Amino acid sequence: SGLKMYFPIHAGVLRRKVGDVKAVDNVSFHIFEGETLGLVGESGCGKSTCGRAILRLYEVTDGIVKIDGKEIAKADREALRKMRPTMQMVFQDPQASLNPRMTVASIIGEPLDEHTKLSKKEKLERIYELMDQVGLNRAFANRYPHEFSGGQRQRIGIARALALNPKFIVCDEPIAALDVSIQAQVVNLLEELQERLGLTYLFISHDLSMVRHIADRVAVMYLGQMAELAPREALYARPKHPYTEALLSAVPDPDPTLESERERIILKGDVPSPANPPKGCNFCTRCPKVMEICHSVEPTFEEVAPGHYVACHLYQSNSQNAGATGASEA
Ligand code: SF4
Ligand code: MG
Repeated sequence: SGLKMYFPIHAGVLRRKVGDVKAVDNVSFHIFEGETLGLVGESGCGKSTCGRAILRLYEVTDGIVKIDGKEIAKADREALRKMRPTMQMVFQDPQASLNPRMTVASIIGEPLDEHTKLSKKEKLERIYELMDQVGLNRAFANRYPHEFSGGQRQRIGIARALALNPKFIVCDEPIAALDVSIQAQVVNLLEELQERLGLTYLFISHDLSMVRHIADRVAVMYLGQMAELAPREALYARPKHPYTEALLSAVPDPDPTLESERERIILKGDVPSPANPPKGCNFCTRCPKVMEICHSVEPTFEEVAPGHYVACHLYQSNSQNAGATGASEA
């Protein structure tokens, strides 16, 4: 909770620090055991940074990250090394995340070398078992990544992530680089593994249709902050934040007979620079429902219905705005 990630910006020959890019600013949420939390938003909104911060692949400026009750945001190297096996990451581009000079067996076995003392034979057994789990033919163990298709390479990445029996996996756009025909296979594999192994996922994606399929709850990020977080059904059927409404208006409705047709909302302007976010609500420069208060007061992230959180003055309970100007659309 209260996760903050600031990246210093350097400028000029002296590389003086001229400001901080707030990649992730005060983002708070928890992930329940065994669930899939979808994290959506446009590219650059901070969702990948957030996922990496949770796994401590980046240093965290401020905030608390607890996995299984253990605080990891400030854990030292050794403590982190001990926790590492329980949390893993599946990357977007299997091509880039697999060492082309290593065989499949050595890629999958690498975490076992680092964190276990298995004998050669035990290690090979475990590698075979992992290959079975992700649907890779054992006969391919000595081949190299380039000999595989994109979907198979992602299976290798998933097998490696599973090697140490993790509890929690951050999937960062795990299917974005794959052919559409392969995407569903990989998503189905992730779901199957979740059920079989009791995994918890943070599923980062810009694809709201895919997230609708896989996530139990969905969090929407904009410019490094949480805009909305809700159970899947509530978010897709009754989005509250104007940004979520706009995102969803661009998603084809899977069952057009059930819901009234949504009108496509086109947002004006560009996403502002995270180095210089707008004052007040960070969405105020593009929001179709912007009000005066939005330019000066930052809305807090509040629970407005059971499990449904939103950061927007249209729904704030205790702001100057409450009951007055807002709520007309609520
Ligand atoms: Fe729009 Fe204001 Fe809500 Fe921000 S707080 S999303 S600008 S209505
Ligand atoms: Mg990303």
